[in-house]
Amino acid sequence: MPDRSFLAWPFFEPRHREHAEALEGWCAKNLPAAHGDVDAACRDLVAMLGKGGWLKPTALDTANPGPLDVRTLCITRETLARHDGLADFAFAMQGLGTGAISLYGSAGQQRWLDRTRAGQAISAFALSEPRSGSDVANMDMTAARDGDSYVLNGEKTWISNGGIADLYVVFARTGEAPGAKGLAAFLVPADSPGLTIAERLEVIAPHPLARLSFRHVRLPASALIGKPGDGFRIAMSVLDVFRSTVGAAALGFARRALDESLKRASERKLFGAPMAELQMVQGHIADMALDIDAAALLIYRAAWTKDMGAPRVTREAAMAKLFATDKAQEVIDRAVQLHGGDGVRRGHIVESLYREIRALRIYEGASDVQKVVIARQVLGTS
Ligand SMILES: Cc1cc2nc3c(=O)[nH]c(=O)nc-3n(C[C@H](O)[C@H](O)[C@H](O)COP(=O)(O)OP(=O)(O)OC[C@H]3O[C@@H](n4cnc5c(N)ncnc54)[C@H](O)[C@@H]3O)c2cc1C
Repeated sequence: MPDRSFLAWPFFEPRHREHAEALEGWCAKNLPAAHGDVDAACRDLVAMLGKGGWLKPTALDTANPGPLDVRTLCITRETLARHDGLADFAFAMQGLGTGAISLYGSAGQQRWLDRTRAGQAISAFALSEPRSGSDVANMDMTAARDGDSYVLNGEKTWISNGGIADLYVVFARTGEAPGAKGLAAFLVPADSPGLTIAERLEVIAPHPLARLSFRHVRLPASALIGKPGDGFRIAMSVLDVFRSTVGAAALGFARRALDESLKRASERKLFGAPMAELQMVQGHIADMALDIDAAALLIYRAAWTKDMGAPRVTREAAMAKLFATDKAQEVIDRAVQLHGGDGVRRGHIVESLYREIRALRIYEGASDVQKVVIARQVLGTS
């Protein structure tokens, strides 16, 4: 049984604890999903999660508007990740993909949210380009105003849900100023003429991922989210909400790795006694539990701070993401070690966790970038 003691921490309200318990029950019945065809699996997971009502926290409820509840997002990601990495991915992208619409969308744009929250439409967040991943402000993609339209030209890459999404939030250069100040965000339906999937990308933990090509994609001016020149600020506000949730997913993977290790250490006998009696094994277990609790404290501090109305949680979210993802990698590596040969056997749960965790240290700001962000906050230079 995974450690649930963190739910007693003062960061949470009774509704968070009830949500965690109910979701745990749903996961035990419905996950892991079959992953053979990753596109089909993701579509099914979005539909299942939508039907169960679990996607509601991912976006603004237009009938009852209020801020996104970051603690609920984190608890959900942590729980889903512990059961099935692809289920966490399907959930997370419904939020990241629509974050700009929840925070800055017009009433017309927000009509999409009823469908994404119900699992009837799949969303994607298209920021990265071949020449600008970490260096977002170096973006090449253009959005040129032409009468009542914008015309988008360029490429996006590493786009999660690329190929299966119904809508993309796309960032492009409208050119009000050089660098970060000249960007804007657009809502682009997947069937827009000129938008094509240039390449499907395969990664070590498979999920739908693509490079997108935009050739003269004409959009009505109403597709603009917020104002021209606001794109960078919008992207950063979305990441400010969702960055801690990446840490929460890592925490879920790490908790699963510890659970599997505890089972292994108590069941497997080495030198005539359970492995758990070996002091060096106990050392691994202690380090894993310590890293997990420390990561959870940072994540739920960031989530609580945001939920309490802090306009930005740049420092808290960067610390949570950096620490939780880096430490989860170490926790999972220890789990692989404790499993011996089984740990590297294809299809074993700790082998899949070892692959799942890696990309989390790269996307939504690589670990090195989080260090830069934290240092600037501490130095007071940002
Ligand atoms: C599985 C996966 C899913 C993704 N999903 C999405 C998505 O849905 N939407 C989207 O827009 N993008 C997505 N991305 C893209 C992701 O955000 C970028 O890969 C990431 O920002 C890094 O950009 P890059 O790959 O261009 O690497 P680069 O920018 O070339 O960086 C390479 C490395 O350089 C180092 N580095 C970079 N900047 C600094 C710095 N300032 N100081 C010190 N070191 C530094 C880091 O170690 C970094 O990993 C995804 C990526 C992956 C792998």
